[in-house]
Amino acid sequence: MTNEKLVELQNLVLPVMKILNLINQEQEEKLRKIPLGLIRKNATRMHAVCRFNPGPKGYEKTIHDVKEVAIHPEALNEKWKYYAQFLLFHEYLHAIGNIRHDSVFRELEDLWPDDDAKNAGKEFGRFLRAKAAKWLWTCPKCDKTHPRSRKSNGRYLCRKCKVTLIDSPAGQTHQTQ
Ligand SMILES: [Zn+2]
Ligand SMILES: [Zn+2]
Repeated sequence: MTNEKLVELQNLVLPVMKILNLINQEQEEKLRKIPLGLIRKNATRMHAVCRFNPGPKGYEKTIHDVKEVAIHPEALNEKWKYYAQFLLFHEYLHAIGNIRHDSVFRELEDLWPDDDAKNAGKEFGRFLRAKAAKWLWTCPKCDKTHPRSRKSNGRYLCRKCKVTLIDSPAGQTHQTQ
């Protein structure tokens, strides 16, 4: 499945990778052949993924072993497009053979020219959790709320006030934006 927005994204990311000398023409063509997909809409931890075909143990995976690169569908919305570019860039770095998040990977990742995008992961995660929240964990003292999918059942304290958080259903009270 390849949707238009993903192709649009790809057309923004690949030229930047070429300018940065991270890929050559041949690699660009190979990256273009990798199927693009979407991860599960209600995922809150995973923002994107580079899926490889399983290979023999200890075998170094290469661009030829990539099965799919998938992005969170919420990242394709206008508000998060800049972050989606960075996500695709990150997954393409995996696809060209940088499998682990080691120091080399982090250096390459840091070459992405948009600093806001590089730092958007936390905020995007918060946005996804708020969307998926069924419960609000609220501090009765400072009123800080934490949207969550599960009840806290008295197990958590407000970091600041050291008071037990209270559960309430996330309904009309929870902000969706
Ligand atoms: Zn990664
Ligand atoms: Zn508090």
